[in-house]
Amino acid sequence: MAATIISGKEMSAQIREQMTAEVQDLIGRGQGNKGFYPPGLAVIQVGEDPASSIYVRNKKRACEQVGILSFGYVLDETASQDELIDLIDTLNKDPRVHGILCQLPLPAHMDEFAVICAISPEKDVDGFHPVNKGLLSIGRECLVSCTPLGCLALLKNQGIEIAGKRCVVIGRSNIVGKPVALLMLAEHATVTIAHSRTQHLAELCREADIIIAAIGREGFVTKDFIKPGAVVIDVGINRSADGKVRGDVLFDEVSEIAGAITPVPGGVGPMTITMLLQNTLHAYKNITGRS
Ligand code: NAD
Repeated sequence: MAATIISGKEMSAQIREQMTAEVQDLIGRGQGNKGFYPPGLAVIQVGEDPASSIYVRNKKRACEQVGILSFGYVLDETASQDELIDLIDTLNKDPRVHGILCQLPLPAHMDEFAVICAISPEKDVDGFHPVNKGLLSIGRECLVSCTPLGCLALLKNQGIEIAGKRCVVIGRSNIVGKPVALLMLAEHATVTIAHSRTQHLAELCREADIIIAAIGREGFVTKDFIKPGAVVIDVGINRSADGKVRGDVLFDEVSEIAGAITPVPGGVGPMTITMLLQNTLHAYKNITGRS
């Protein structure tokens, strides 16, 4: 039987609609009050990498859609790391800004870790700051990276049971694999993190009730990896030779066996941006005490 398609696009549209109402309400109640600022996100881009420009544009557009203000900053490719950190310092202190996002990758002469560390943890809406990473690992309230949050939201909104289930995460990056594994663990799944050195990967995956693929290799997860009825979340974004975007999962054959599956595009991608908006609202509430 063909799998249920978990549409991140539809889920995102619903969440954004609710968020729009929430932001309007916040603004309606706050406007005119001394020291009131509507929720605001600062988006920094260094250089004019075309892919980064598209991501930044989409993020700003999504902010506008729900009524979050966005402040864009584009530094020259040759800007120094000190210049970037000075800008981040200014934004850390700016009361109009509740979230700061620095689009990665940065030019090679910059130290990404140092730049991430310069962002105030309470405005770190990408959830990349080591303070937020540490809080996540000990199960405390924090800002969590958007893609892992999006994966969890897809599962939860679809009503998929997580507690007690076996979950295999393929990929151990700091951006996706590790944090999504921690989120699944916090939801009481039994989690295995697989990676490029994992042996007998297909066999391991066939034990999983939930597979989260974050590898970056088109069509890597085939039907041989899938237990009938398993839930498959495909994080991968790969540009195919024919110019189309495809996931890490061989969708056509896996969807014949899986119980539910996310498509690419239209699965994790839209949810990632929605979670960025959600994180900005979350940071806003924490910083301002408004809810
Ligand atoms: P990464 O390159 O940092 O990590 C890839 C991981 O895959 C590594 O941990 C590696 O060990 C593992 N891996 C590589 N080859 C493997 C193999 N043969 N067997 C098992 N594991 C293997 O990538 P990332 O940043 O985690 O991103 C992964 C994918 O997700 C990419 O396609 C990326 O574009 C996509 N992505 C999508 C979103 C989104 O919003 N949908 C966000 C972030 C990343």
